Amino acid sequence: MADLPPPTLRLTVDRAALATNWRALDRMSGAARAGAAVKADGYGLGARLVAETLWEAGCRDFFVAHWSEVPDLLEVVPPEAIAVLHGPINAEEAAYARAVGARPILNSIHQARLWNAAGGGPCHLMLDTGMNRLGLPLAELDAPEVAALDIHVLMSHLHSADEDGEANERQRTAFDAARTRIAHREASLSNSAGIALGDGYHYDLTRPGLSLYGGVPRPELADVIRQVARIDAAIMQTRELQAGETVGYNATFTAPHAMRIGTVALGYADGYLRCWSGKGAMRNGDARLPVLGRVSMDMTAIDLTHAPDLAEGDWVRAEYDLPEAARVSGLSQYELLTALGSRFLRA
Ligand SMILES: *Cc1c(COP(=O)(O)O)cnc(C)c1O
Repeated sequence: MADLPPPTLRLTVDRAALATNWRALDRMSGAARAGAAVKADGYGLGARLVAETLWEAGCRDFFVAHWSEVPDLLEVVPPEAIAVLHGPINAEEAAYARAVGARPILNSIHQARLWNAAGGGPCHLMLDTGMNRLGLPLAELDAPEVAALDIHVLMSHLHSADEDGEANERQRTAFDAARTRIAHREASLSNSAGIALGDGYHYDLTRPGLSLYGGVPRPELADVIRQVARIDAAIMQTRELQAGETVGYNATFTAPHAMRIGTVALGYADGYLRCWSGKGAMRNGDARLPVLGRVSMDMTAIDLTHAPDLAEGDWVRAEYDLPEAARVSGLSQYELLTALGSRFLRA
């Protein structure tokens, strides 16, 4: 078999920036240590690459959502460093957790029963303090199945840490009250945004995700967090348009004058969604190359007016600074990362 040539789509992870972001969040977490949410393939950047980088930086606590995400991580971190947010939903998952040694985050009496029935052992417990999504309701905290657990980290999750207002304080107060009712070794409440809320929210362990990867959920983090992900794609074809010619599906762009355009190997199947149509841009050095017309599944047309030297086979870089990209596209910073598809060379 011939060697497969490298993809014409590249997702470059700036490992130094990733490590710098973790260190900054760890520092901002005060006396607490920072872990890392690496679910959804490290927010789309590659879980193994991310975990390996952060382990080297000193991170010792990694969070994923599904058990299917565990094997990838086991190649780079020890099992007890992995916590699974969804917990065991059936006996097979509880047995897998026991066999592998990754820690379940239990979310309900049902899950506590499954864990005890599988043999139990070290686990974490997620409490619901007002999000009403996943987590043990406070009213069930005194259940005997819960009392039987060996809880290492007692957790809850803030639903509006990226906003000011009373909800954060309300959840923190509820969490503090719950902490006195159940034996546990450590406590954890804050995601990225929660870290910026100050010492009262840090406890023993924080769980940043988004900001590790360059996301800025609160203004306090704007000067702290560096961009991590860069997207480059190859130009497959260039062409000259005459005034009045149109570009792409449904002809939503019409050339106002003669112009040179390029077709780039990046489309909505790669996570460059249709909301970028007529709004996004690529870069070649300082030259800005706006997206023309609709983004297609596998390709996007760009204006080459300001980069006359670009030729077929050359590369351009998508404008993808997360806070700015979220503002322009209407997508959340989380979606901008996790939507990125499987055709990128991640390196
Ligand atoms: C995803 C997640 C995090 C990380 O949140 P960010 O906002 O990305 O920092 C922390 N805790 C829980 C429970 C999560 O599900």
